[in-house]
Amino acid sequence: MDGTLRDAGGAAAITLAGIGKRFPDGTQAVHDLTLRIPAGQLVVLIGPSGCGKSTILRMINRLIEPTSGRILLGEEDVTRVDPVQLRRRIGYVIQHVGLFPHQTIRANVGTVPRLLRWSRDRIRKRADELLDLVGLEPARYAKRYPHELSGGQRQRVGVARALAADPVLLLMDEPFSAVDPIARGRLQEEFLRLQATVRKTIVLVTHDLDEAVRLGDRIAVLSQGGRLEQYAEPAHLLGAPATPFVQEFVGTDRAIRRLAVTPVAPDLLAPPDGPGELPVVALGTSLYDALAAILVAGTEHARVVDAAGQPVGLLDRRRILDAG
Ligand code: ADP
Ligand code: MG
Repeated sequence: MDGTLRDAGGAAAITLAGIGKRFPDGTQAVHDLTLRIPAGQLVVLIGPSGCGKSTILRMINRLIEPTSGRILLGEEDVTRVDPVQLRRRIGYVIQHVGLFPHQTIRANVGTVPRLLRWSRDRIRKRADELLDLVGLEPARYAKRYPHELSGGQRQRVGVARALAADPVLLLMDEPFSAVDPIARGRLQEEFLRLQATVRKTIVLVTHDLDEAVRLGDRIAVLSQGGRLEQYAEPAHLLGAPATPFVQEFVGTDRAIRRLAVTPVAPDLLAPPDGPGELPVVALGTSLYDALAAILVAGTEHARVVDAAGQPVGLLDRRRILDAG
């Protein structure tokens, strides 16, 4: 089926089938990596510096040609697609976003639609829609130049630009690592909201485990040479590291991280009690937040309520610690 790339929009699954990259100087940056990323999921690649993360992303959009294996976008082998055409259908966001300094924010966002020869009106509407989506009010920001924005705002423009032509896949190489930690947290939250709206397939590279755990539907932990150590959902990765490498990588504070990604679920609860002074948390709250509520209140339990505010059970402090 070859309609996948031509019809922009939606999201495509991506399959890396035994891909490898050996650079001309003999460096084997990636050995034999097989990974399947379902459509609409956000998968994080994480691993130490030099383990091949950027090389993997750049093989997907063919800035680098693999020396072995195949990459499928949807059903289509990307090596059979013209690389320029391909890159117009794959959004790419890098650490220093690379905005054109002498173009307005609106023009920057419209880069790919212009290459695709959309009408001026359509480009303008699309750019403003995307600026809205990433939280930059067009009336205020569209006519500014990149140097008139903060680092975090520039990264948002980079994300808007990458989404402009409605790509089926978004590649992000350490997109938030150059901004300060507070701005980074806000960017991550906004980005999760954005993803809930656009539901793209996203491959995001980071070396920050907290970011991986917060953003990823699944996390692929890589070691040197692009070797896949584990590919799992965050809570699973933290709860059951598959190899000594992963164990070391996720570190000793993984129990706390795990609480942050594990929701309060009915199977953890004791039956509800009568009225009384207890902190109240909703089903679905993270165990981390539930524990915080219990510690702040100085109690042993929290009362758990459902979406309608009806009590559904009691959560014991010790149950939370066991779950971690
Ligand atoms: P990461 O993004 O995980 O830090 P990279 O993918 O940038 O790692 O690099 C993986 C390995 O490939 C490193 O050892 C790096 O030095 C090497 N490498 C990257 N690009 C080239 C190149 N053009 N020629 C030779 N070696 C390269
Ligand atoms: Mg890199």
